[in-house]
Amino acid sequence: ALAQLFEAQKLDTIGHLTGGVAHDFNNLLMAVLGSLNLLKKRLPADERSERLVTNAIQAAERGTALTQRLLAFARRQELKPQAVDFLRLFENVEDLLAKAVGPRIEIHKSIPADLAPLLVDSNQLELALLNLFVNARDALESGGAVTVAAAAAEEALPASLAGGNYIRISVSDDGEGMDEATVSRAAEPFFTTKGVGKGTGLGLSMVHGLAAQSGGSIQISSARGKGTTVSLWLPVAETFVKVQPAVEPPATEPLK
Ligand code: ADP
Repeated sequence: ALAQLFEAQKLDTIGHLTGGVAHDFNNLLMAVLGSLNLLKKRLPADERSERLVTNAIQAAERGTALTQRLLAFARRQELKPQAVDFLRLFENVEDLLAKAVGPRIEIHKSIPADLAPLLVDSNQLELALLNLFVNARDALESGGAVTVAAAAAEEALPASLAGGNYIRISVSDDGEGMDEATVSRAAEPFFTTKGVGKGTGLGLSMVHGLAAQSGGSIQISSARGKGTTVSLWLPVAETFVKVQPAVEPPATEPLK
């Protein structure tokens, strides 16, 4: 299941990247195809020129078919926000996260059972947790602890958030931490200090993207030699918990 999650993360990243690239590429190929078709009409009627242009048109058509497939794939990656019970979600993936960090790292949690439900894509939130736990593991070479905490965030909201109710979820480790320059770049796509083949530099940018797309926010605080806390503010799914008053069904005449 862990391999599956990693695979899902890879697909997710590819999905986001291909979405943008495929769209631009498709437009370019459409322009190429249009010009080639015009050129074909204006060409002198010699067999060799015609064959060359026809080959080019066929290649461009194969290209547009491919970009259409990529776009269809990327569209499947859209977020599906639902009301999520964070304690349940965390308990469902806890074993998996423990396997990801290994036996030398303790996991602590502080999640109230009566926490309001979040409005977020649950699969993506699981992936975000996995990314944060993998980062904590890498920062804890000689063991240590990772702490997950969740609480209603009535005060101390980041300036970027509008009014409303949010839950703050944080993942902290007492690992090696980051210097200021690293903190300021940590969420950039492809920024990694882990070396070729080890880090992709996409973990925190995925977490950042999820927070932003969910209408929330992210904050990374870290100190070299002390540890790191990544906090996510996610909106409360308020409208989902309100129950409409039952409407009396209209009285019906018994059938005769
Ligand atoms: P990756 O883990 O593939 O490098 P990320 O985007 O998840 O990509 O992280 C970017 C960089 O931020 C890491 O290479 C590392 O330098 C730093 N970083 C992230 N999380 C932590 C952490 N918990 N402790 C120390 N450094 C971290």
